[in-house]
Amino acid sequence: MVSPANAIARLLQPRSVAIIGASADPTKTTGRPVAYLQKHGYAGQILPVNPRAERIGDLPCYADIASLPVVPDVGIVLLAADRAHLAVRELAARGAAAAIVLASGYSETGEAGARRQRELHEAAGAMRILGPNTIGLVNLTDRIVLSASGALEMDHFPVGSIGVVSQSGGILGSLLSRAAARGIGLSKLISTSNEVDLELADFIDHLADDDATKVIALYVETVRNPQKFRAAALKAALAGKPVVAFKIGRSEAGAAAAVSHTGAMAGADRMYDALFRQTGVIRAQTFSDLLDIPVALATGRRLRGNRVAILTSTGGAGTLVSDDLGLHGFETPAPDHTTAQALRALQTGSEAVLDRNPIDVTLAGLRPDLLRGAIKALLASPSYDALTIIVGSSGLAQPELMAGAIQDCLPLTDKPVLAYVSPHAPEVGALLTQRGVPAFAAAESCTAALGAMLASSRFVGPDDVQGAGPVVTVDDFMPGSLDEARAKQLFARFGIACARERIVTTVTGAQAAAAELAGSNSGRVVLKILSSEITHKSDVGGVAVGLTAETVGARLEQMAVQVEARAGVQPKQFLVQEMIGGGTELILGMHRDPLGTAILLGMGGITAELFKDTTMRLLPAQGGLSRAEALSMATDLKTWPLLDGYRGRPKADVEALVDAIVAFSRMAAQLGEGLVEAEINPVIVLPQGQGVRAVDGVVVLA
Ligand code: ADP
Ligand code: MG
Repeated sequence: MVSPANAIARLLQPRSVAIIGASADPTKTTGRPVAYLQKHGYAGQILPVNPRAERIGDLPCYADIASLPVVPDVGIVLLAADRAHLAVRELAARGAAAAIVLASGYSETGEAGARRQRELHEAAGAMRILGPNTIGLVNLTDRIVLSASGALEMDHFPVGSIGVVSQSGGILGSLLSRAAARGIGLSKLISTSNEVDLELADFIDHLADDDATKVIALYVETVRNPQKFRAAALKAALAGKPVVAFKIGRSEAGAAAAVSHTGAMAGADRMYDALFRQTGVIRAQTFSDLLDIPVALATGRRLRGNRVAILTSTGGAGTLVSDDLGLHGFETPAPDHTTAQALRALQTGSEAVLDRNPIDVTLAGLRPDLLRGAIKALLASPSYDALTIIVGSSGLAQPELMAGAIQDCLPLTDKPVLAYVSPHAPEVGALLTQRGVPAFAAAESCTAALGAMLASSRFVGPDDVQGAGPVVTVDDFMPGSLDEARAKQLFARFGIACARERIVTTVTGAQAAAAELAGSNSGRVVLKILSSEITHKSDVGGVAVGLTAETVGARLEQMAVQVEARAGVQPKQFLVQEMIGGGTELILGMHRDPLGTAILLGMGGITAELFKDTTMRLLPAQGGLSRAEALSMATDLKTWPLLDGYRGRPKADVEALVDAIVAFSRMAAQLGEGLVEAEINPVIVLPQGQGVRAVDGVVVLA
């Protein structure tokens, strides 16, 4: 039996390819694979199989798989879904490494299709399958095209170092042709589509080892096996090969919420954000980013900071670029004194303005020597981390000269050099890109590329090693929805500090509890109904803050009436709780999803949902989150400054918050499937040295 890696290698670099159901008519889809293999220079053996043809072009055609003169490495199966599995079985019997199944009509069509897909998998035995419903693969490195994509009608494709794995066949053709038109060189493109067997992660893993591939671009519909994906993406990161992913389904509604708010906020798409972030995968926000970012990363140049020099010979376009960079946290400082002097020494025209950025050298667009001098000065400047060159209409006069001048300067540093082509001039952009200067037709693309380069240089690797913490016994907790007091007892068991409280049933009980608790803190208490059915107490008038031993009794009677009127049940039990003042309210929750278990942190307690200021991390395979990861969650929040002493506010006890996040994550890890839902909303973070307190809790146990 072939080992898996070996089978993928044979699939991508077959010495022989059988095409089952090949047609002699190259205009038919079934005629394309043979035609494209030949057209694009395949050097191996092409073996068409079709009982109704003697020859296909100059190739002998075989009646069936059994009569093939050699065992093909790969079989491209062009038969429809009702017969594809028969060919797959025969290919497997002959010992082929893999079959590429193009037919549709499988799991994408419903239950009957899914059954057919299982039959197909069974028929393959140990042989690997790409597809079904795939358009195949294109190995540009080795001039091997195993695909029916109409994009292969193009005669020439630039060969480069970007590997593409797409879960859509149509997108493979789209990226192939768009890249070619822009002078972007690709290495391998694979469409995995239905993924009955080989999937995204298999090819990420393979491309991480592929010498010809430096950057991996993914078009993702769904990650079927998160653990495998994680391992493969981290392998690529370790190999120094950035992975860039465009994921569709961004508009999907949040996962259906049950009791907690966390579910609603932890939408499926946010889970992908967390998965990508923790594996160093750069997320392409738009489809065009999926080429724009890889082409910049494939230069291998490193962005070490956020200061960008913009060299322009045309005012407006430079401003367009600097404006968009500014919106996304980049700086465009004016040249320092030495750099300005070097630029001034080059100057021959009086129009040039050199004390600002964009740096406007009007004549340089026409004079390669001036351009070269200006680029050298800017790349040498310690004030800049990257250079964006604006190509204006004047630059179109002699594109070769201009591209050559820029290219000459590239070896001087490894700072990124990008081009923004202002007029519509795709051929100039392609020329620059091929010379190692990624060229873009939109200012937003320059920003996206630079942003990704910065992110890629900052990923330090996974943070997976941490203890699970001591094992906590929870046998005394009953399954089902816990009431607030019980939920907090569970949190406390895992080491989370909770507000002190007493359960009461009567006015006198409440008064006694208030007198006892008010002594400790703000002098005030909070009164709440206690029920495992009513989880959102405020909604029914079941929370009153700022009470004292004197006021709590009357308030309890009033609350009992109000809650009964609104919720239809008479509250039997109440909580009297110390009132936690002077802190910041956060939500800390857990969400389970096919991608994994996520911990969510959000600012604002109940208003978190409104402000959408939340961040998530997936739990590692074992144990909870590390302190570093927990801290990064806090600093990730848009409103992190509120915890960090914004405008004279006292700094919050971030250490204690980190402790709480780690403890909460360990609880989620230890209880596993036993913990259906868990949320602390709010957890109140007090000023430095005073800790945090969980004041409300929701828990559902299995
Ligand atoms: P709900 O079931 O409506 O979520 P909570 O117990 O979270 O009820 O209380 C609602 C709000 O009341 C909290 O978001 C917080 O602002 C305030 N609150 C509740 N308990 C306390 C407390 N012990 N100290 C200070 N504020 C509290
Ligand atoms: Mg609450």
